Amino acid sequence: MVLTSLSPQENPSPAYICPLDQACSYLEEAAHELKLDRSILEILSNPRKVVTVSIPVKRDDGEVQVLAGHRVQHCDILGPYKGGIRYHPAVTLREVSALAMLMTWKCSLLGIPYGGAKGGIAIDPKSYSIGELERITRRYTSELIKDIGPAVDIPAPDMGTSAREMAWMMDTYSVNVGHAVPGVVTGKPLSIGGSRGREMATGRGVMITVREALADLGKSLVGTRVVIQGFGNVGSAAALLLYQAGAKVIAVSTGSGGVFSDVGLDIPALKAYAAQNRMSIVGFPQAAPISNTELLTLPCDVLIPAALENQITQDNVDRIQARIIAEAANGPVTLQANQALEARGVMVLPDILTNAGGVVVSYLEWVQGLSYVFWDEERVNRELENLMVQAYRQAIQQTKVRQISLRLAAYTLGVGRVAQAFTDRGLYP
Ligand code: NAD
Repeated sequence: MVLTSLSPQENPSPAYICPLDQACSYLEEAAHELKLDRSILEILSNPRKVVTVSIPVKRDDGEVQVLAGHRVQHCDILGPYKGGIRYHPAVTLREVSALAMLMTWKCSLLGIPYGGAKGGIAIDPKSYSIGELERITRRYTSELIKDIGPAVDIPAPDMGTSAREMAWMMDTYSVNVGHAVPGVVTGKPLSIGGSRGREMATGRGVMITVREALADLGKSLVGTRVVIQGFGNVGSAAALLLYQAGAKVIAVSTGSGGVFSDVGLDIPALKAYAAQNRMSIVGFPQAAPISNTELLTLPCDVLIPAALENQITQDNVDRIQARIIAEAANGPVTLQANQALEARGVMVLPDILTNAGGVVVSYLEWVQGLSYVFWDEERVNRELENLMVQAYRQAIQQTKVRQISLRLAAYTLGVGRVAQAFTDRGLYP
């Protein structure tokens, strides 16, 4: 099933793997398993709203550049739209649409009352000054002013954005509506209503999911050999928490290259090194350089792709040696590669479960903001732990009841709850 409301793919290269087609394939598989009504599948295959705005930005040299900013709102049947804002050169409307759909299933799977959305601008944030990024973010927010809001659509950070961009978005929205509205975004700095534990939340959720999966195999994190692709918000937090729990993180990479140590990397030292080197880890002492291609195929217990989509494909799947793959990024394993891994008995922890920690703590931030009561980090981490473990257990239970893969189990839970809500609410008019 291909989205009817979007034009044909924007990237015509034969090697291109359309993330939206993949997302729709998983949806169709879940719909088939659930014996969903065709009309509900049709509704769920299409986003409710697709917005693309022009963002004219004055560069520091005085030239004006016009960027396209997307926001896709997939489904709000369970609550306000929720999803990150991505700044990355590979952003396309199809990618944003796929990610918005994943957010719907993720929120539903975790049992939090949100629908799915995603936003993005095709820029490399490293090529813009902080002033330029602020002007881009503020104009983008201002163009979306009627489409976002604490009861409507609540953006959050994603690749290339952070608490800084959320603060600019919150301020721009608040100035436009005439009063402070902290609930319009999550992932904010603590000073303006952010939640403790938010920065590490996605990485913590990854660590919890991996820990639970290992426990099901009769193993623990202690001494487990882990490889992580990506050392940004998610990858570095997961690396640190796994390291603190006794795992051996033997290789880590960023867009500019990776490092390997057979005895395990000193992750706090690696984080400090990255912070001093504009987030590059190349040249880190006491470790050997490694390319991203080599890193993915290293022998290890757990491989955690925490960077981009489509990293494990038909081209490299036969060389993957990990026993468990934890999808910290969204869509890092292609559909075909996923089938090959499942056939080989590799446990794939699906993205809509594994990386849900961020949206869970975003939800906790929103709840704290609405109740004007702010929790300590221990409470936030406890609530996160409970929701992650509960979703993991429910998904594992579903694999046993239906005799299906963990990914399909997670999808049937996520899609099934949304479909039930459609059935209960009925179609208007
Ligand atoms: P980020 O921008 O903070 O970090 C991305 C990391 O990936 C960086 O270290 C970058 O150097 C690296 N990278 C980029 N291209 C690479 C390449 N070709 N090979 C290896 N590494 C490469 O982004 P993030 O917030 O950590 O997000 C990473 C992934 O996790 C994305 O797929 C995102 O959608 C997903 N995710 C993020 C969150 C969140 O809370 N930030 C929540 C859920 C899912």
